[in-house]
Amino acid sequence: MDIPPSTAAPGGAAPGTLQRWLTGPRFAGLPAPAEAAPRLSFEFFPPRTEALEQQLWAAIRRLEPLRPRFVSVTYGAGGSTQERTHATVARILRETALTPAAHLTCVGASRAEVDAVARRYWEAGVRHIVALRGDPPAGQARYEPHPEGYAFAADLVAGLARVAPFEISVAAYPETHPAALSPEQDLDNLKRKIDAGATRAITQYFFDTDVFLRFLDRCLAAGITVPVVPGILPVSNFAQVRKFSAMCGASIPAWMPRLFEGLEEDPETRRMVAAVVAAEQVRLLQANGVDEFHFYTLNRADLTYAIAHLLGARPAPAG
Ligand SMILES: Cc1cc2nc3c(=O)[nH]c(=O)nc-3n(C[C@H](O)[C@H](O)[C@H](O)COP(=O)(O)OP(=O)(O)OC[C@H]3O[C@@H](n4cnc5c(N)ncnc54)[C@H](O)[C@@H]3O)c2cc1C
Repeated sequence: MDIPPSTAAPGGAAPGTLQRWLTGPRFAGLPAPAEAAPRLSFEFFPPRTEALEQQLWAAIRRLEPLRPRFVSVTYGAGGSTQERTHATVARILRETALTPAAHLTCVGASRAEVDAVARRYWEAGVRHIVALRGDPPAGQARYEPHPEGYAFAADLVAGLARVAPFEISVAAYPETHPAALSPEQDLDNLKRKIDAGATRAITQYFFDTDVFLRFLDRCLAAGITVPVVPGILPVSNFAQVRKFSAMCGASIPAWMPRLFEGLEEDPETRRMVAAVVAAEQVRLLQANGVDEFHFYTLNRADLTYAIAHLLGARPAPAG
């Protein structure tokens, strides 16, 4: 950014308060939320217990009036939640006005088995699949495709398109998938998934806005023109996020640990800090023209609801 001559610090000295105020990023400098509500989607995971089921449904009910474009339900490692994912998706279809998307992975199943799961979704009225390769099962360091299975997500996308005319979303990695040979090959892989029939990419979470915006540029340069939707993770538990980020290749910016320092036993303050961090992130994205957001809700509504509100989302009027 150009510094106005009247406020530039003389002789390259450290900038003064006025100069910092005039040139530094701040909320007041961002535009107000757009008139048009952002396009939202919310991700949930299938609950394991009755108590978690109640927590999930409280979150779904709270977020439903924000009219997301779809809500997605994850598929546990190696298909471990196949029945629970199906039950959750089916209940969303039955009991809400929401459009569900079912996650589906390649791991540990033959093509015929995966196709059967997909067919069952289609017959139940599910029209949107988030197609993924999946991670190796716990204890197995490297991913090995099932001998009769879909090897990679691009193969699954092509297979699903043969089962039924699903809407298909796929995963994208602004900081490159950890097993990719190079950022270029990872981007080629994303392109293959789109060419095979996917019409949306949802990104792994990230915390630096620059990371996502640079990735968008690279996608466009590679000829990827479908929506690339940022995955937003409100950090309700920093210790957990740090651990998970090390595995999935999302970097933790240097400024972040300090923000959550000393809050290990203070979930309430942690949530407030998390709201500020995510609010700044999404508002910067919005100021840069991003109008579609996918939230990793972790089956809790409060942070997602507040951040969606800041983006301009409002509940549908009653009745
Ligand atoms: C939005 C989102 C939702 C997710 N939901 C789930 C879920 O519900 N359940 C779950 O288990 N996991 C989920 N994951 C995690 C995902 O399964 C892992 O990140 C997995 O390791 C990669 O899946 P993918 O679909 O991106 O794989 P792919 O696109 O197949 O890519 C996997 C890796 O293989 C490389 N690759 C691809 N094709 C080839 C090839 N032909 N030769 C060599 N290398 C190749 C890629 O560059 C990449 O490094 C999700 C991730 C995201 C971002």
